[in-house]
Amino acid sequence: MITIGILAVQGAFIEHKYVLDQLGVKSFEIRQLKDLKQPMDGLILPGGESTAMAKLLHDLKMFDPIQILIQHGMPVLGTCAGMILLAKRITNQETHHFQTMNIAVERNAYGRQLGSFFTHALFNKVSIPMTFIRAPYIVSCGPGVEVLSIVKDRIVAARQGNQLATAFHPELTDSTYIHEYFLSMVSHRI
Ligand code: GLN
Repeated sequence: MITIGILAVQGAFIEHKYVLDQLGVKSFEIRQLKDLKQPMDGLILPGGESTAMAKLLHDLKMFDPIQILIQHGMPVLGTCAGMILLAKRITNQETHHFQTMNIAVERNAYGRQLGSFFTHALFNKVSIPMTFIRAPYIVSCGPGVEVLSIVKDRIVAARQGNQLATAFHPELTDSTYIHEYFLSMVSHRI
């Protein structure tokens, strides 16, 4: 039986839990350091505000332990701000976070007008609904990164080994496809 830990210091974490509940998958919220002692098979970094999330992770002493977990191969799904946390480089700011994924991302990349939008597009050759909220996109990918989705000529989903990142919020639509894809990564952990 798979158990997923969901980072729950800030942002849209509860929605991920609802999707996992719907899929009959056990999950728990990671709010403080001691929660990381619970065994988990995969980790979700939700959308929200990446700077706020990173600050809380440092304040709560969870930054290093989570970075080490990911470096050691814990399967991780980062959505929107979660993708920013994983990125090796953030093109429009000086600070970086876990830097475990070989991608460069631009924050709030769609500007104010187009900041939030909804569309259907292909992910891994399957059409799914996608909700973008002040979303980043992937500017460039390094070796080992597989592009899984392109919207409006921009890369919006990618995978590198056990890490999956989406610029959109899969937890805010009625499709469970991204979570199912992630769960299959968890079951086939490399
Ligand atoms: N704009 C947010 C950030 O830079 C991400 C938005 C989101 O997660 N919906 O962290």
